[in-house]
Amino acid sequence: MATVEKDRQRTKSAAKYELPKLPYDYGDLEPAYSRELLELHHDKHHAAYVKGVNEALAGLAHAREKGDWATLNQLQKNLAFHLSGHVLHSLFWRNMTPRSAALEDGDLLENIERDFGTLDAMRNQMNEAAIAVQGSGWAALSWEPLGRRLVVEQIYDHQGNTGNGTVPLLVLDMWEHAYYLQYRNDKKKWVAAFWDIVNWPDVAQRHLKVSTLDLSL
Ligand code: MN
Repeated sequence: MATVEKDRQRTKSAAKYELPKLPYDYGDLEPAYSRELLELHHDKHHAAYVKGVNEALAGLAHAREKGDWATLNQLQKNLAFHLSGHVLHSLFWRNMTPRSAALEDGDLLENIERDFGTLDAMRNQMNEAAIAVQGSGWAALSWEPLGRRLVVEQIYDHQGNTGNGTVPLLVLDMWEHAYYLQYRNDKKKWVAAFWDIVNWPDVAQRHLKVSTLDLSL
């Protein structure tokens, strides 16, 4: 079979993005995160990003087939927005756990201390970045694979204001849909509650996997 034909078949059979199941039940993060809020956030908001990224990719496939690029810029914006929304929410669910425990000694803690001074200093910076978000966004602890260091990022919407190449390890959703139902306008209270349900082993495992990524090669 010709390579072009193979590629066409591969494109047609590419899997759609799917809404991942939560690694716990809706009520398991209470009282830090209410059942009602988690169910709405996952089943409605995250689901909309999954639908959106699949629609953007279908729109791009349609444009390729027709050779009609009239809506390309809008499709690219939709792809960036919905794909990033899907990625960040998929990470966010895994970053939380009903059985949170302190971060143990290891490479992650060592690198946090190297790059921020102390764990508390990193946490404080991430809190400030989260609370200061204007409009909708996130705070993230990310791996930066050119300098091979950790950075705190303040993300606009889902896709803006980040350094290219950074890989988020721990993300904190500061969209109003993420906290308003339970915390109203009290962002500080939501941010404080978040640390009670952080899944440090998940963050440490992500750090271990991506810390070999080196863009300076
Ligand atoms: Mn969200």
